Amino acid sequence: MRLSNLPLNTFKEKPAEAEISSHQLMLRAGLIRPLASGLFTWMPMGLKVLRKVEKIVRMAMNEAGAFEILMPAIQPAELWQESERWGLYGPLLLKMRDRNDREFCFGPTHEEVMTDIARRELKSYKQLPVTYYQIQTKFRDEIRPRFGVMRAREFLMKDAYSFHLDQESLQETYDLMAHTYQKIFDSLGLQSKSVDADSGEIGGNKSREFHILANSGEDKIAYTDEDDFAINVELAPVSPQKQKESKEIHNLEKISTPEIKSIEEICEKLKISPKDTLKTLVVEGEDESLIALVLRGDHVLNRHKAEKINGISKPLSLASEEKIENAFELKPGSLGPLGLNARIIADHSAICCKNFVCGANETGFHYKGVNWEIDLPKPEAADLRDINEDDKSPDGNKIKIARGIEVGHIFQLGEKYSTAMNANVLNQAGKEQNLLMGCYGIGISRIVAAAIEQNYDEKGICWPNAIAPFELVLISINAKKSKEVISVTNKLYSDLTNSGIEVLYDDREVRPGVKFADAELLGVPHQVLIGDRTLSKGIAEYRKRGEKDFQEYKLGDIRSHISQILEMNRNVSPR
Ligand code: ATP
Ligand code: MG
Repeated sequence: MRLSNLPLNTFKEKPAEAEISSHQLMLRAGLIRPLASGLFTWMPMGLKVLRKVEKIVRMAMNEAGAFEILMPAIQPAELWQESERWGLYGPLLLKMRDRNDREFCFGPTHEEVMTDIARRELKSYKQLPVTYYQIQTKFRDEIRPRFGVMRAREFLMKDAYSFHLDQESLQETYDLMAHTYQKIFDSLGLQSKSVDADSGEIGGNKSREFHILANSGEDKIAYTDEDDFAINVELAPVSPQKQKESKEIHNLEKISTPEIKSIEEICEKLKISPKDTLKTLVVEGEDESLIALVLRGDHVLNRHKAEKINGISKPLSLASEEKIENAFELKPGSLGPLGLNARIIADHSAICCKNFVCGANETGFHYKGVNWEIDLPKPEAADLRDINEDDKSPDGNKIKIARGIEVGHIFQLGEKYSTAMNANVLNQAGKEQNLLMGCYGIGISRIVAAAIEQNYDEKGICWPNAIAPFELVLISINAKKSKEVISVTNKLYSDLTNSGIEVLYDDREVRPGVKFADAELLGVPHQVLIGDRTLSKGIAEYRKRGEKDFQEYKLGDIRSHISQILEMNRNVSPR
């Protein structure tokens, strides 16, 4: 593509509306343009990337034996009423009426339409197992669309659905899809991790999430390098962490701490570690009561786990300062489990603490040397906290924590939809049997943003080769002054293009600095430079995106050098 033909608008400044790097860079590089909240136009350069992701996903799905279909984006309300999700899906579902006043929605997902196809098309066990997929636009009226195409309202998803007669067959396809997903992320050139996950709203039993690792990820993942343990921190069960054995039991002591408001401050004052303190968080109960959750000072409350405890309100809600003051007549900073008149639930690791420091339930005072069963009874115990890097996996290996962006999710739905919608086939005995179902999603458009989050520097995007909009950018310098530059670059452009290389030819009449900045911002993996000065010495220059200096090559050698490098890069597997 000749860049002079493309009305490309790039800009240097960070767009004010974009919080994370991928959103900023996609706007700055002109890959997407916003239309309204959560709605984006894919501009030519962005669409090239999106299509490449789509192609890799499509190839892998075909290879796994899935059949591509295309379902309508608009779906009749009746199907959603049958599955009872018309009301349950909530405000995420964009509803509309046609001219005959019939209700429809814009599909946020396609289990209903797919199950409807299955109950019409599948008659016998002999047709099973079968997997269908589509690559299609979804709409979800997200409460907080943000981060550009990462959490948009309209987005592109690959969704697949499989049908089975028995669990064994469902498990087999589920495993095949997990394997296929891993292959897809490897082919994309992205570092990913798959984790056990909650099945969320779709329901069903088993589910697995696929994450692209990046510092800005919304999810936290716990994993080890040594074993298979990999799980969303939200869900990771934690075994108690014992404090180092201290032989002597200290005496309980009340200390004055008038200025102390936080764990850090009390640790600073007493020269102790947060591990030696307990903090007390007050949450709302299902009735009007308040419930105290006690954790070690260095641990983080896991909302997900707390919500699962009977009596605690769902969603979890921390009690306001005012409520705490009214109920206990003290400031929240002085709360503690000793003498608190409330239901107390302590995390397992908090129960293992000895000689700890905690609030004295009197404003401006703490206790030190507190011990369970000596100074206060052991309370109810539960797993309440996030796993962390001091914990061990069930096999005893060191936990690592990384941030991830969820880009794929696979579920075993079982009979949920086939029961609700009466989808069955005749089994070997000639009897009607409910279909088992699996569903498998990948966020195609989210992958583009996630790929950037994993691959950028201060100058712009650093695309992995597999999904770069172009393999190479060819830059001419001072072409206006030198006819030779024009003819050599034109010739090189057509030679490279003819040999099947995707070349972006920056033939614009702009300053060299603008061309370099745009090449870096757009993140094309390889750059070739033809300038009037070096050309007079018969030299062309090359550098990889991210490298500081260009290397000089004889003009006659540059083509073979590029072919060699690109060939090598096409064959490398991801980091
Ligand atoms: P999230 O927890 O991020 O909202 P989800 O669990 O709702 O995701 P699924 O219903 O499993 O997502 O959808 C499959 C895939 O579609 C997700 O893994 C993600 O990659 C993508 N996806 C979901 N919601 C959005 C969105 N609002 N914008 C872009 N992609 C999305
Ligand atoms: Mg969602």
